[in-house]
Amino acid sequence: MAELIDLHTHSTASDGSFSPREVVELAKKQGLKALALTDHDTLSGLFEAEEKAKELDMEFVRGCELSAKFLDTDVHVLGLYLPKDNSLLKDLEKELDIFIERRNTRNKKIIQKLQEQGIDITLRDVEEEAGGKVVARPHFANVLLQKGAVTSIKEAFDKYLAKGKSAYVPREPITPEHAVEILTKAKAVPILAHPKLIKCSEQERITLIETLIPLGLKGIEVYHPVHSFEDERYYLELAHKYSLCISGGSDFHGKSKPDIQIGKGKGGLRVPACILDGIKKCRYQ
Ligand SMILES: [Zn+2]
Ligand SMILES: [Zn+2]
Repeated sequence: MAELIDLHTHSTASDGSFSPREVVELAKKQGLKALALTDHDTLSGLFEAEEKAKELDMEFVRGCELSAKFLDTDVHVLGLYLPKDNSLLKDLEKELDIFIERRNTRNKKIIQKLQEQGIDITLRDVEEEAGGKVVARPHFANVLLQKGAVTSIKEAFDKYLAKGKSAYVPREPITPEHAVEILTKAKAVPILAHPKLIKCSEQERITLIETLIPLGLKGIEVYHPVHSFEDERYYLELAHKYSLCISGGSDFHGKSKPDIQIGKGKGGLRVPACILDGIKKCRYQ
């Protein structure tokens, strides 16, 4: 049987429900050959995960996932093989702190909107729920549920947190170009995450890819739970056409996305270990 890997996972360092160490343990239990931790906008889980991976003799890839906006839709860019060089990592961390600052401003506004609607909630409640450095909307949803303001996570989003709802606050977005540039500067391998989730026309998606390549985009996430087999085939061809490397992962978050398993996605995901060679070739030498 071919060896499998997972190059897209989240821990409590951002909006996942398992600690970085637990994510590595789960990957080991699943029999994966290699794992990348790719928390949103933070590197804070990498050290713990890397230590655990070493202990379990697993190949570990340092990663992160940056969110950007393009034509009013979310575009995510993964950075894989973040450098070992500490000064480069520190520079990247400084860039990411700006992201976190923006999130914090947004979070304060969400709290204000919820309070205005009579909900007894403070930023502290949500920060405690988050535990890590990054506070995101799933953490708000959990607190709303615990406080009895809603009866399910889905209701929290449908009533308050989703786009257009009463406590929604848009992000101050960066462009995908900027995300790729930040990662390129850090000597990471920038990969366009789950292209199917970018809500635009196929032509717009291709224009986006063509715009990002000269800025340093190196790969496309071909294997992802939202991609059908046809999508996989299509993005494989696209990667080939533009000489991009291919990546893939489950986008594991733990309890907030209970139908997604590490390494397996919804059950049908198979990310072959051989794609690592292609990604490694794109690493900054
Ligand atoms: Zn994403
Ligand atoms: Zn993700």
